[in-house]
Amino acid sequence: MKLEVTNLPEVDGMSSLTLKQFQDQVSELLLRHRSLLDVLSKFQQSGAAANRSVVKSITECGCIQVNAAKQEYHPEMTLNEAKDVLGTHVTGHLCEQCIEVVSSELGRNLFYMSALSNILDVNLEQVVENESKKCTTLGLFNMS
Ligand SMILES: [Zn+2]
Repeated sequence: MKLEVTNLPEVDGMSSLTLKQFQDQVSELLLRHRSLLDVLSKFQQSGAAANRSVVKSITECGCIQVNAAKQEYHPEMTLNEAKDVLGTHVTGHLCEQCIEVVSSELGRNLFYMSALSNILDVNLEQVVENESKKCTTLGLFNMS
């Protein structure tokens, strides 16, 4: 039996699905992959698959391109100067098909992140809240 994200049962009020609800949903579905080792390796594999889907958008589809160079950042820059100078190295936009594939792989990765959180009693909503507080406290340049 292979668990797919698309097999998730519907939850009431899908538009306002919380991370807690999603985490509970994942918990009910993960009958086979209950082992921490299974989930750890699936989490890693799904992360690699997400990266691979982005790479394929570049090398096979071609809807986005990468043109990378050193980021010329200086600590004394203002926020607006930094926004002008620092780039994503991406040109173009994911096409409809690629955005679907990348989204699906990210969803699968989120599924296993939720499963890992379940096994270790980590509350994902709390994780997001803490990370958001960190973003506010540390500011733009200290999140690396
Ligand atoms: Zn594409």
